[in-house]
Amino acid sequence: MLVLVFNAGSSSQKSCLYDFDRERGRGLLTISNRGVGKSILENPLEPLWEADIDWTGSEEGGILTVESNNIEQEIKLENRETALEILLNTLIEGETKVIDSLDEIDVVGHRVVHGGAKYSQPVKIDADVKSAIADLIPLAPSHNPANLEGINTIEKILPKIPQIAVFDTAFHTTIPEPAKVYPIPYKYYEQGIQRYGFHGISHQYCAQRTAQILQQPLDSLKIVTCHLGNGCSLAAIKDGICIDTTMGFSPLEGLMMGTRCGSIDPQIIIYMMQEYGMDVEEINQVLNKESGLKGVSGVSNDLRAIAKAMSNGNTQAQLAYDIYLHRLKKAIGAMVASLDGLNALVFTAGAGENQSLLREQTCGGLSYLGLQLDLAKNDADPVDTNISTKNSQVQILVIHTQEDWAIATAAKEVMSAEAIAVKSSK
Ligand code: ADP
Repeated sequence: MLVLVFNAGSSSQKSCLYDFDRERGRGLLTISNRGVGKSILENPLEPLWEADIDWTGSEEGGILTVESNNIEQEIKLENRETALEILLNTLIEGETKVIDSLDEIDVVGHRVVHGGAKYSQPVKIDADVKSAIADLIPLAPSHNPANLEGINTIEKILPKIPQIAVFDTAFHTTIPEPAKVYPIPYKYYEQGIQRYGFHGISHQYCAQRTAQILQQPLDSLKIVTCHLGNGCSLAAIKDGICIDTTMGFSPLEGLMMGTRCGSIDPQIIIYMMQEYGMDVEEINQVLNKESGLKGVSGVSNDLRAIAKAMSNGNTQAQLAYDIYLHRLKKAIGAMVASLDGLNALVFTAGAGENQSLLREQTCGGLSYLGLQLDLAKNDADPVDTNISTKNSQVQILVIHTQEDWAIATAAKEVMSAEAIAVKSSK
């Protein structure tokens, strides 16, 4: 089965093509995932082809980078309208060609950031699903339109190919009401103001991969997954089901991030409006783009640059890092409280996978919970590895998050389930 994955963000478009048949016979592991049915996690495959559009470089156009056949090619894009067609053409033409015709693709899986309270599973896209994604645009103004753009382009170029939406919010729909409902007048909850959570595809993948690596059933584990990229969030996962997370109504709540503030006293916003005369746009800009590591350090949103500045004695950079670490440890404690215990702590995404000092200082501060880090393993660039000592009561893992692979697997599962349903109805 050939599965094309579209992972569109506000300023980027990542795509890849997986060929499930080419690597048939690789290890499969069935993980019982109580309440959600059986979920099959296959060992991740390498994509046959990868393409990345970066829209941040210039005003109008972007840069498309394609990798396949051990070749990397860069193409300048003039505008957004034709970009996805050019991207798809690199699958069937030139040095990056990997298939003869786009019709060979069996299914397209899309990462859709916001599925609201409605979607708790991946779904086949039809007119209703598209209008639901459009209705949710006010909740994800920079992401859901890009997701719809990708869906519509595929529909136009490849009208017969089924498309599957895999939602970043879906994994969190199991969060119980005490963790989901904000303590504001209840009518707002009824109008959709609630904690949704994000990074769900990554958190779910990491939980499943943890069970696989530890060779333990997922429904016997209490896991805290730490997705630490530019955006940062934690999830508390019990028996494979998410019961709490740090992001909320939007991806602004929770941990301190690269440029986002995370949780702050909401009165600060009222004060800024009243005392500084700031309007909605200005507040949005400050809290989403000018806060977090960047805002406190004045150096960068990137932990690598922060670390460098710290080693040069920059006290603002040191403060930014100290706040980041303090809030991370505090939030892990909150997730453990939601779980009533902990079997595994998982680090993933850019900072989680690569910042060994951050992992060391986080775990060091939580040794009373039974975490014992193996310092040598932690420093050895671990990937999909258990980095705790033999005697550690809680396992500590570094997992390379593979959202695209998780989307491809989910799209394939939806198609397989549909094929079984059609067969049994005959
Ligand atoms: P995004 O959320 O944009 O996908 P990433 O997952 O790439 O972000 O994470 C970005 C963060 O990860 C930055 O703070 C960066 O410093 C850190 N990071 C990424 N790669 C490395 C690396 N090789 N070494 C240390 N830190 C890294």
